[in-house]
Amino acid sequence: MKKVCLAEEVQPAEDLERYREKALELGADRACLIAVSEIPVKDAVVLKCQVPRCFGYGVCANCPPHTLKPAELREHLRNYTWAVFFTKDVPAEVIVRDKTTIKERVAAYQEIYKIVSELESMAFYDGNYLAFGLGAGSCRHTFCGREENCLALDGKKCRFALLARPSMEAVGIDVFQMVAQAGWDIYPIGGGAKAGEVPKGVLAGLVVIR
Ligand code: SF4
Repeated sequence: MKKVCLAEEVQPAEDLERYREKALELGADRACLIAVSEIPVKDAVVLKCQVPRCFGYGVCANCPPHTLKPAELREHLRNYTWAVFFTKDVPAEVIVRDKTTIKERVAAYQEIYKIVSELESMAFYDGNYLAFGLGAGSCRHTFCGREENCLALDGKKCRFALLARPSMEAVGIDVFQMVAQAGWDIYPIGGGAKAGEVPKGVLAGLVVIR
């Protein structure tokens, strides 16, 4: 582990660019550095977890209403300046809710958490020790879909403590807006969407560095 020091003393631009490149190396299709002030955090995003009710709502420590509230995230983000944002494409037949592709779908979401976790860890050991990352979807489905409960909600250790975390949307980040701001494509895909009706799925991850 490198010597922990203030981020400004560790060549800011260079390490940020390394994290962006690492995201691509780990499997992201596109990645960019963004100013944290450009991250849109909205209460209405979390409202969408409840209306209509998502399967993860209330049954996972990393999903609403148990996770960080948008207002809390906005407050925390005031202490940060830079983040790495990335997306990964997923074939339409994998992203739509079809039972025959559930394994591939779960694997696609797991990939996002792995990239986020690795970037967060890399930043931490570089001395950006307050870095934190957010994934996509719900860890209840992505990691504990076959389990009866969320251990963390029962006050026990999470089964995937270093990988599981809230998704960007669970804490109020408008992912659609962020993807559009980056100049990339994304399509709304609801529960009833059919593979032939959407060009592709897009999953996103974010690591707030400092
Ligand atoms: S990974 Fe499993 S145990 Fe951990 S917070 Fe998510 S649902 Fe709970």
